[in-house]
Amino acid sequence: MQLQRSVSICAAIITHISLFAQKDPKTTEIWTPEPKVITPGKTNSEAPSDAVVLFNGTSGTAWKHKNGDDAKWTVAENTFTVKPGTGDIQSKQKFGDCQLHIEWRIASNVTGDGQNRGNSGVFLMGRYEVQVLDNYNNINKTYVNGQAGSTYKQSPPLVNVCKAPGEWQTYDIIFTAPRFSEKGNVIEPARITVIQNGVLVQNNTTIWGNTVYIGSPFYEKHDTKEPLILQDHGNATSFRNIWVREL
Ligand code: MG
Repeated sequence: MQLQRSVSICAAIITHISLFAQKDPKTTEIWTPEPKVITPGKTNSEAPSDAVVLFNGTSGTAWKHKNGDDAKWTVAENTFTVKPGTGDIQSKQKFGDCQLHIEWRIASNVTGDGQNRGNSGVFLMGRYEVQVLDNYNNINKTYVNGQAGSTYKQSPPLVNVCKAPGEWQTYDIIFTAPRFSEKGNVIEPARITVIQNGVLVQNNTTIWGNTVYIGSPFYEKHDTKEPLILQDHGNATSFRNIWVREL
């Protein structure tokens, strides 16, 4: 009897404490650790203090070709321009989950049509392409999952917010790398959010595997960090203000 009474008293105390806790605002407050303080850029183009700058307008030394040669693209007037025929370039530093800012410009004298009009591309982890192409005003006809802002041959952009050739455009990309098991099975596919010229064009979109031109995308296990690749598709497309924040 005495034991039963003690248990009842304990239960009543616990209930009282629990009810009290629910009324205490402090129970849902987190005070530590405090977010690291960083300094934002003065504009969206300028790198915040914790970013890795991959192109600041004057030097292409953060990049190389696949065979290890220095990047042969043209650095002039604060831009980094594809020198057609020299090949893709890749960042010397490797990245996994990241926030990427990159600006691109289709040549004002662009020629060609379809996929041959200002084509380049931003390949996250060297594999997953966000397309760069002239699709201003839907004048240049091509498959929609191959136009600017698409994950190439996968998901079309939500809207076409392209500017005219000769004008600078921005991509702000939030990328989550895929997760693989030891055996190489996909535990979580990659995901990507792309904001083009301030407008959402990919909203946490699933990436279905490596970008491929023919056939279905597929995954193959790779390291947790891989280089960023910019594409030489034979068109003199320019880039500037390239920075990455590792997440
Ligand atoms: Mg491309």
